[in-house]
Amino acid sequence: RKKRLAELKELPAETTDGHQVELVANIGTPADIPGAQDNGAEGIGLYRSEFLYMDRDSLPTEEEQFEAYKEVAEKIDGPIVIRTMDIGGDKELPYLDMPEEMNPFLGYRAIRMCLDKPEIFKVQLRAILRASAYGQVKIMYPMISAVEQLREANQILAEVKEELREENIAFDEDLEVGMMIEVPAAAMVADILAKEADFFSIGTNDLIQYTTATDRMNEQIADLYQPFHPALLRMIKRVVDAAHEEGKWAGMCGEMAGDKRLAPFLLGVGLDEFSMSAVSIPEVKDQIRNMSLEEAEELAEEALSCETAQEVREVLSN
Ligand code: PEP
Ligand code: MG
Repeated sequence: RKKRLAELKELPAETTDGHQVELVANIGTPADIPGAQDNGAEGIGLYRSEFLYMDRDSLPTEEEQFEAYKEVAEKIDGPIVIRTMDIGGDKELPYLDMPEEMNPFLGYRAIRMCLDKPEIFKVQLRAILRASAYGQVKIMYPMISAVEQLREANQILAEVKEELREENIAFDEDLEVGMMIEVPAAAMVADILAKEADFFSIGTNDLIQYTTATDRMNEQIADLYQPFHPALLRMIKRVVDAAHEEGKWAGMCGEMAGDKRLAPFLLGVGLDEFSMSAVSIPEVKDQIRNMSLEEAEELAEEALSCETAQEVREVLSN
């Protein structure tokens, strides 16, 4: 069986009736690239750039960031979605003098911090834009909860691009700029956001946490942290539909994307890109290659009609 999964490496993630999706990897550092390649990732759907900022005592310079992003851009023959820093929550930076918070996951984090400290955000955007001259780089904002934040981030990005043009520094003028859907408010206004974002990637780790009001790290309530919750399924469908309505693509980079039990559902609602830890790619691909889109759509419809997570689980395990 292991051998069979290994043979899948070069094959597309295509259903028996010819519907193809993209299977890509989540990475934290350039050191994760070989693992992604060995498992047949077609690109990187989530590069968690915050690791560049952690375990050190000062901010990484533009040059340090550029070198890391460029290395990934050069090595990966496919799209590379670089998520701008997702600092805060459980990822603190001692050197930034972040406030002590009652609810760090509901607090000063990710895009919220970036919009508050554009001088730090701009350095990262410059580094990413410069790396875009070396591969298929895309930018993705984390934790957007309202369209104004997307606009504000894009305004800062436009300023950075203008500076680079003035300095005659190359970057990809057509670079796609998308956002994560990991806050329920964003899922509910996905139709509005889809008009201004080039793509969505659903961050189910946080989306489950915020939708079910269940701390993703608290073991005592782990049974409430429920990927099969009908609310999640409905949100996912809503987000994918909203993207497609505007001619945009929708992916997923939370753990749910790498759960082979959920692959038929995600396929059935039309998810275009599945980004996961590289080791899950062969299994999910195997699952996708052994069913038709029509079957997946029927299953998705059935799952969406369930009233409980338990029912969803049963429908999806048949
Ligand atoms: C997510 O929230 O689903 C996600 C992919 O981001 P992270 O796990 O880094 O918060
Ligand atoms: Mg997240």
